[in-house]
Amino acid sequence: MNTRQYLTNLDRLREIYFLYDRFMAYETSVCKKRCADCCTCNVTITSLEADLLLSSLSPVEKKALDIRIIRYFPQKRFVPKMTVNTFARWCMEGRNIPEEENDPAWGHCPLLADDLCTVYDARPFGCRALMSRHLCRDKGHARIPPRVMTANNLFLQAIEHLDSQGFSGNLSDMLTWFPADEPVPPEDRFVPNEAIPVLMVPPEHRSDMAPVIQQLSTLLIPDSRP
Ligand code: SF4
Ligand code: SF4
Repeated sequence: MNTRQYLTNLDRLREIYFLYDRFMAYETSVCKKRCADCCTCNVTITSLEADLLLSSLSPVEKKALDIRIIRYFPQKRFVPKMTVNTFARWCMEGRNIPEEENDPAWGHCPLLADDLCTVYDARPFGCRALMSRHLCRDKGHARIPPRVMTANNLFLQAIEHLDSQGFSGNLSDMLTWFPADEPVPPEDRFVPNEAIPVLMVPPEHRSDMAPVIQQLSTLLIPDSRP
């Protein structure tokens, strides 16, 4: 029997994170524990990732998270106007891409305590994808190799595709809203996810990314239950 037939979307998401870790195993960075300038209040998350994050916490950890989010809720934060797959579709359709305001100076992530992530093992992909070849603190920005940028977009597209019935938003908004009683999330804070319209892989990275695309495709094929 093919056990992969019975993977839930949460299982698939865990496997996508695992695949990303394997992909990044050969990349070098200067990132280290307690280097946390990248942990800003602007990180975004999909609803499926919020589900995985919250379901991986014990009731005590969940209570601690609720307290932190309420106490340190960022009044000014990045609220996305589009997802990565919407961006890809709009580019394909030749539509204008709206400006999005995003400033790290708006503050730290509420889940950061003493420069450590309080949900590290369950952190969303937006956090996993942050790395740099030089110290961000010295240069004021990260230096991410182009092939990692391409891979990051690919994985973001795959995660959104897996959750294409869900939505995306700022981590603080999502974790205070989810799991919510209202079936439709507030439009001013969340954007609907969508399936991949086209993969955002530049020609120079196509052969490099081919094995990753193949593995992600396997994880995105829906169950074929008997
Ligand atoms: S991305 Fe930048 S701030 Fe974040 S851990 Fe790496 S070097 Fe530090
Ligand atoms: S969830 Fe954790 S890793 Fe992500 S920004 Fe917040 S503190 Fe940093």
